[in-house]
Amino acid sequence: MDGKLFTTHLLDWYRVNGRDLPWRRDPSPYAIWISEIMAQQTQMDRVVSYFTRWMDRFPDLITLARAKEEDVLKSWEGLGYYSRARNIQRSAAILVREHGGVFPSDPAVIRALPGVGPYTAGAVASIAFGLPEPAVDANVLRVFARLLDLDSPVSEAPVRRTVEQAVRSLIPAGNPGDFNQALMELGALVCSRRPGCTQCPVASHCLARAAGVAESRPVIRPRRDVLRIEMASGVLLHQGRVLIQKRRPDDVWPGLWEFPGGCVEQGETPRQALVREFREEVELAVEPLEKLTVITYAYTRYRVTMHCYLCRYVGPREPQPVFNEAVAGGFVSPERLHDYAFPAGHRRLIEFLEQDSRLIKPFSADSLS
Ligand code: SF4
Repeated sequence: MDGKLFTTHLLDWYRVNGRDLPWRRDPSPYAIWISEIMAQQTQMDRVVSYFTRWMDRFPDLITLARAKEEDVLKSWEGLGYYSRARNIQRSAAILVREHGGVFPSDPAVIRALPGVGPYTAGAVASIAFGLPEPAVDANVLRVFARLLDLDSPVSEAPVRRTVEQAVRSLIPAGNPGDFNQALMELGALVCSRRPGCTQCPVASHCLARAAGVAESRPVIRPRRDVLRIEMASGVLLHQGRVLIQKRRPDDVWPGLWEFPGGCVEQGETPRQALVREFREEVELAVEPLEKLTVITYAYTRYRVTMHCYLCRYVGPREPQPVFNEAVAGGFVSPERLHDYAFPAGHRRLIEFLEQDSRLIKPFSADSLS
């Protein structure tokens, strides 16, 4: 490949076609870092709206380091993979404590931050500091698997190293940030899952296209089996308030809030599972009144079917929940649910509750208690 010509074709295309994204207008290390972490596993239009709100709420490292974790998680709510938000805040605390609140330019120091891998470190170093570091994300891996016609899965470490070396050898002096962003943009807009070779600015350099195999690159390793789980969640209303609890720090979705419930065990119906879970988790006797909805969502390799019920308390005295599997909890008014960060499935349940006019009445009229 003629590296100079490749770079010229790519950068000329990027200057005309690169998207106007907020962090490109002001490529500070902090902004680039936040945008890159948010963009992992998330579509770009969602990243833009979350990024804009985040920068209003936490405009710099010091503000972020001093923020309450609850507020950070709330600002992240809906993006998923909440460990990213926690790692960002832990990193901000480290940067304030050990670097005086100034983002370091050394890629090795950036990479040592919690939740930062070689891609993010390369992106910050090249875009914000102009250093000749490769930034190889899934888009760039796909582009180079085609440009170099690689016939091994890109998830394999040697293939990734091959791509990183190829990118490093092509980075132009004086313009590494634009070069890396142009590659990512090419992968996002042209060399996407279905390659748009007829619009591609670097088609003349592409081995897979020349060999007629662009559609079958990159080679994908077969997926692990998907595991399906059934869950039951209960909206327990008492005197117009609803019971929620906060998950433990060592559990899945640490620190997020939820409606009590859990897995449906073999031989149980979702209703039976819910009665048992309330007894075990919060030591309350409940009766599932009606099924509200069924929510399905994916979490890593799990496909969850969550059966959601409206419940009433059937114990002899005022309900006094004991939080055996949570660090906090209590009855809150439905309007306050938005003050708490919930995982995606429970957030969708709240959205359902808001839209079902039958449920607004019991929320406010206290008719079930
Ligand atoms: S020619 Fe096609 S396969 Fe090759 S880099 Fe361009 S879009 Fe991708």
